[in-house]
Amino acid sequence: MNGSPTVNDHTVVNEMPSVDRTVTVNGTRTAVAESAIRPEHFRDVLGRFATGIVVVTGVSTAGGLPVGLAVNSFTSVSLTPPLVLFCIGHDSTSWPEMRGTGRFNVNILAEGQRHISARFASRSDNKFRGIDWSSAANGMPVIDGVLGLLECTVEAVHAAGDHDVVVARVHRMEVRDGGLPLLFYRGGYGRYTDL
Ligand SMILES: Cc1cc2nc3c(=O)[nH]c(=O)nc-3n(C[C@H](O)[C@H](O)[C@H](O)COP(=O)(O)OP(=O)(O)OC[C@H]3O[C@@H](n4cnc5c(N)ncnc54)[C@H](O)[C@@H]3O)c2cc1C
Repeated sequence: MNGSPTVNDHTVVNEMPSVDRTVTVNGTRTAVAESAIRPEHFRDVLGRFATGIVVVTGVSTAGGLPVGLAVNSFTSVSLTPPLVLFCIGHDSTSWPEMRGTGRFNVNILAEGQRHISARFASRSDNKFRGIDWSSAANGMPVIDGVLGLLECTVEAVHAAGDHDVVVARVHRMEVRDGGLPLLFYRGGYGRYTDL
């Protein structure tokens, strides 16, 4: 075995040529060969990991206006204390608007809320136009009909490549609707069925 990946019907090796670079560890420079994965291949493979979809909602630090965006990089992190995370692209315009408040809500979308995901994944001056919502106990927006709500405060933000990893503490949460989740898989929407 030389460790090379096996190429068969199920394996597509799609890498750019290795790029030699050096890293410094404890003051020692070491040459490393870094395989540059093509972005489209990265998306294709990662797209096979099905996820739910949440809308992260908050209010703008400047004017207290509702802001939000669709996110599928959401996951739980810790039970004690209760921590969650999501990853936010550096080109997001909504996150910088709301992060100054240190608070936001996570709205877990139901299968009938595809239009809400699309709206909050789009560029829009007012993503809440025509969307039914109210203020949760923490004053941040909660969208009507979501499966679940988590009221959070920002615990830490870690830079990671072209995204930031936002770690947040959950202060209050509730199941809002008994329906089924909206799912995201290979760039499209789907619904959950029992096997
Ligand atoms: C199912 C799903 C899951 C997603 N998960 C994530 C996730 O986990 N993390 C994540 O970061 N994103 C995720 N996205 C993408 C995210 O929802 C969209 O990028 C959304 O538009 C971001 O909203 P925003 O208001 O922060 O930024 P936007 O204002 O929508 O800006 C997005 C991009 O458009 C550009 N832009 C904005 N306004 C203009 C303009 N007037 N003219 C030209 N360019 C403009 C911005 O510079 C930026 O590059 C997901 C999308 C979907 C559909």
